[in-house]
Amino acid sequence: MKLISIVVPCFNEQEVFDETYKRLTETFEHLDKSKYTYEIIFVNDGSKDNTIDLIQKVINSDSRVKGINFSRNFGHQIAITAGLDNCKGDAAVVIDADLQDPPSVILEMVKKWEEGYDVIFGKRRERAGESTFKLLTAKWFYRFINRLSDVDMPLDTGDFRLMDRNALNQFLKMRETYRFVRGMVAWIGFRQTFVEYDRESRFAGTTKYPLKKMLRLASDAILSFSNTPLKVATFVGFITSIGAFFGIIYSLYMRLFTDDFVEGWTLLMISVLLIGGIILLVLGIIGEYVGRIYGEIKQRPLYIIQDKLGFDK
Ligand code: UDP
Ligand code: MG
Repeated sequence: MKLISIVVPCFNEQEVFDETYKRLTETFEHLDKSKYTYEIIFVNDGSKDNTIDLIQKVINSDSRVKGINFSRNFGHQIAITAGLDNCKGDAAVVIDADLQDPPSVILEMVKKWEEGYDVIFGKRRERAGESTFKLLTAKWFYRFINRLSDVDMPLDTGDFRLMDRNALNQFLKMRETYRFVRGMVAWIGFRQTFVEYDRESRFAGTTKYPLKKMLRLASDAILSFSNTPLKVATFVGFITSIGAFFGIIYSLYMRLFTDDFVEGWTLLMISVLLIGGIILLVLGIIGEYVGRIYGEIKQRPLYIIQDKLGFDK
């Protein structure tokens, strides 16, 4: 008998929660019950609405359901990690609470798992109900990341995936604070494959990824998987130094061999402003990395669990 763990991060998902639970259990009706059992772990990521009560309710009526209640909002990537830390399955599936990832795709993932793959991620063929802005930025973003970073991340995938216990244990050894789970999973290797699916629109509720959170995820992805921005800093510094060198030659020439050396004021202003700007840019890039080093070095726990629900059953 193999146990499959389903990890569902939830942040203010009261509108979809019941439907999500229903669809997940329905999906498992289609799996061979003599071969598989399952557990569902809902991670309540500091929701401000009734999500935790809804989780408690299904835990009371269904012994396969467990809950992790965070002490505050720690973010999607951390919520996923907490669920995976606490699951017991021979395989674990991560799925969004909003039904954008259709639960039925899990069945195809399990099939691939039986074929011997260790990581099976869901690849989006189509994405319904997303703004053009989100589609374009997402597309651009994944290609950009791949250009920059040292690992090959699969294009057009999110956090909807199945991992075998073996791969999962390796993943869980990585305890960095700034997490871009997709990249980390790509980094561990093993036999990886994908199943394609059409991403549906949110069943209900609104996105929990406003622009600010999207930007934070993007910078975590770039800065934790690439040193290219630091190289950009060096490169820009190098180019300006060359410019500055010629500037110095020119100024000296004007000063020593001509009479109109006050004229250079415009050039002076431009170069001061330009170089000042570039120094700040480069410092900013370095600062981002230093900030992350500081964050990592504190070695804080990734998350704080207020209560664990249903784990003693
Ligand atoms: N989520 C979370 N913590 C957060 C933000 C989001 O646990 O701080 C969960 C959310 O409940 C959902 C999943 O992460 O299950 C993906 O969020 P959402 O669907 O809002 O993102 P989108 O699909 O719009 O990118
Ligand atoms: Mg969503």
